[in-house]
Amino acid sequence: MKNIKDYDLNELKEELINLGEKPFRAEQIFKWLYQEKVKDFSEMTNLSLELREKLKQNYTICNFKILRKQKSKDGTIKYLFDVLDGNAIETVLMSYHHGYSICVSSQIGCKMGCKFCASTGINFIRSLSSGEIVEQILAVEQDTGVRISNVVFMGIGEPLDNYDNVINSIRIINNPKGLNIGARHISISTSGLVPKIYKLAEENIPCTLSISLHATNNAKRSEMMPVNNTYPIEELIKACKDYIEKTNRRISFEYALAKDNNDNQEDAKELVKLLKGMLCHVNLIPINKIENGTFDKSSNENIMKFRDYLNDHGIVATIRRELGSDIDAACGQLRRKNLQNSENIGLK
Ligand code: SAH
Repeated sequence: MKNIKDYDLNELKEELINLGEKPFRAEQIFKWLYQEKVKDFSEMTNLSLELREKLKQNYTICNFKILRKQKSKDGTIKYLFDVLDGNAIETVLMSYHHGYSICVSSQIGCKMGCKFCASTGINFIRSLSSGEIVEQILAVEQDTGVRISNVVFMGIGEPLDNYDNVINSIRIINNPKGLNIGARHISISTSGLVPKIYKLAEENIPCTLSISLHATNNAKRSEMMPVNNTYPIEELIKACKDYIEKTNRRISFEYALAKDNNDNQEDAKELVKLLKGMLCHVNLIPINKIENGTFDKSSNENIMKFRDYLNDHGIVATIRRELGSDIDAACGQLRRKNLQNSENIGLK
């Protein structure tokens, strides 16, 4: 049976028409799911008992179970959810002065193989459905009672490798009758799947595009990110320029600074050359060392020097605040844990 949260509003209208119902029922169902946040069809009290029964016969409502929840000193909360097929995913809630941000996973595992990322080295299992992406937000809102205002696709997985489901989930998240989170408050982060960047530029979704760049020449970038062998820097930058031209939206380049690898003045100089004149912003991330990882965090002094060099040379750069590192919830620390482990530690 299909998960009812997999449909955007237009698709759900089609579904209802196929069930012999009026399309406006889809709007009522949307309101129950995403505004009232009910967990069962029986709670949709402005629908007839007959329709509620029909829905129950035809769809499931996926409600994730929390397998594990960890709270950081800085208020960040990491969830391990049971996605109901024996797999588990991680989602992170962060609190900023401007509101709550959620970092969602888009796949169970990841195929990209970035050398510095903890999601590497675990098996790729499958992509998440739209409903499973949306459910991460619902489950966290239900658990905490907070209203989430920002969504970043920076959890486990490569969102552009799960293109259709990610776009569909954004339609649900963004819909005023759905979760009603503005597209400008939604960011997709990609390791650089060039054809999908061109495709995204054609969608009418003004979300923020973040590019995980991390290096300024192909030798270094391929060393860190195997995807660069398929889509080298020149092609990536060309796609980014096309994206900016078509959407008139600023791109955010992520640059994780690793000691003695990509953090010296020469790298900063090359980065300026690469991005000069583009409508963009650079987000510097102090790299989080992963278990047995080869990359170490740059010193604070180097990070600030790197930032200052960029700012002094016309590239707007900020250093990302590190949240949740004490609970392994910071950038690149997420790792799909299997149910077996969670059961072993008695948290089920
Ligand atoms: N696959 C997507 C989204 C998931 S990763 C992507 O590559 O963009 C989210 C961000 O965290 C990316 O910018 C990624 O490069 C960065 N990241 C991964 N591992 C990291 C680490 N160990 N330290 C700092 N940032 C890391």
